[in-house]
Amino acid sequence: MYAVTNPATGELIEEIPNSTDEEVQAAIARVHSGYGAWRRRSVEDRAAIVKRAAELFAERADELAAIMTLEMGKRINEGRGEVGIVVDIFTYYAANGPQLLADEPMAIKGGEAVITKGPIGPLLGIMPWNFPCYQVARFVAPNLVLGNTILLKHASICPRSAAAIESVLRDAGVPDDVYVNTFASSSQIPAILADPRIQGVSLTGSEQAGISVAAEAGRNLKKTVLELGGSDPLIVLDTDDLEETVKATATARMRNCGQSCNAPKRMIVLADLYDDFVVGLTKRVADFYLPGDPADPETKLPPLASIAAADEVAEQVERAVRQGAVLRTGGNRIEPGAYLEATVLTDVTPEMDAYYEEIFGPVVIVFKAETEEEAIAIANDSPFGLGASVFGTDPERNARVARQIESGMVYLNSAGGSQADLPFGGIKRSGMGRELGAAGIEEFMNKKSIRL
Ligand code: NDP
Repeated sequence: MYAVTNPATGELIEEIPNSTDEEVQAAIARVHSGYGAWRRRSVEDRAAIVKRAAELFAERADELAAIMTLEMGKRINEGRGEVGIVVDIFTYYAANGPQLLADEPMAIKGGEAVITKGPIGPLLGIMPWNFPCYQVARFVAPNLVLGNTILLKHASICPRSAAAIESVLRDAGVPDDVYVNTFASSSQIPAILADPRIQGVSLTGSEQAGISVAAEAGRNLKKTVLELGGSDPLIVLDTDDLEETVKATATARMRNCGQSCNAPKRMIVLADLYDDFVVGLTKRVADFYLPGDPADPETKLPPLASIAAADEVAEQVERAVRQGAVLRTGGNRIEPGAYLEATVLTDVTPEMDAYYEEIFGPVVIVFKAETEEEAIAIANDSPFGLGASVFGTDPERNARVARQIESGMVYLNSAGGSQADLPFGGIKRSGMGRELGAAGIEEFMNKKSIRL
């Protein structure tokens, strides 16, 4: 069942039944039948439609933000900001698509060749609730320009976002057999992946979903992109403005109520700054203490996306404390609604679950490192490898540390983030493949070698 439940109050607003098996089959048939004509259109034609979609996203930013606020509790201004990045992504692929898809001539031993860059066919996208518009955009914009068609299964708590995105694309001129939203359940995913008409799958979500989808895709030899969880380290080597560093750290962690895969979640601070950092951060986090209506632009602490999500994060905090972590502030569930006080934990050791697991909510863990080497070792002692940040005043030292971190992305003197032209993705249990930038259009591309 898909359902809209306001996480600020717990009120159930609308239920939408899952698509039937017949409806899912019909949706597959549509994206399959639309592929031939879509791939034959010129890149410029497809890019023009994607550009129009960017304009419509910009026009409907308020409407889309309000839907996200209602469905998953995102603060209204953050929702508008999210749509801004969506506009950037559609604009980027519309502008750069033709050049990214241009033939690549090559001199080879004994002659010449050309690499052509074309689509592979209908794709399945499985998307999460934390950035209902942005996560879809990263997958959809490059693949529409490339000429693939798309069947999209959104998170079951975001049916209105799913429908609103489909309307934008339709109104922009994306044919109704090129992008199709389905309210399939996760139990219908194996049948979709087994269908020979579907050529690949991109999933953003949890490790568990990634494991299931990768297993089914593997069984059916389907290309897979996975963007899963993260427990990104943020290393503070030194600073000439501790207050600013603390502020940047707290703001980045609390963005989207802590529900970002690439938020810095483990702050690793060198010993001489550690005590002041913890005191400063604990004070700063109190800013994110008072729960409020996410539709009110003044609200600092919105609810998490659902009551279940808030209960789970609260349980993780409680378990950490039971296992010996020190709770510096926060940790309490606030009801009604899916609220959790912003939380700071310290003294977390490898014996505790919190050391290795991802905490997807407004919770900061601070570690003390005696040396640069120890900071790098703590950063890398994680099953995840999505992003990382390094704060320090010496650019050479920052770069040296960045190169030693096991992750797909590192940000120097800034805490996480995402932009249309910078590839995004992880290693280890954070997933495989890249989205955004030039790399993001290559994942479901047939790079065909033609020997001349
Ligand atoms: P899920 O991974 O369950 O949801 C993401 C998407 O995957 C949804 O569309 C969901 O559908 C679908 N899905 C779930 N299980 C399967 C499956 N077995 N086969 C196919 N599709 C599936 O996220 P949760 O809501 O459970 O979040 C739990 C955790 O996931 C978070 O705490 C966080 O660690 C991580 N996460 C990471 C995100 C990221 O940005 N990388 C985003 C969201 C979550 P449905 O809604 O119908 O279950």
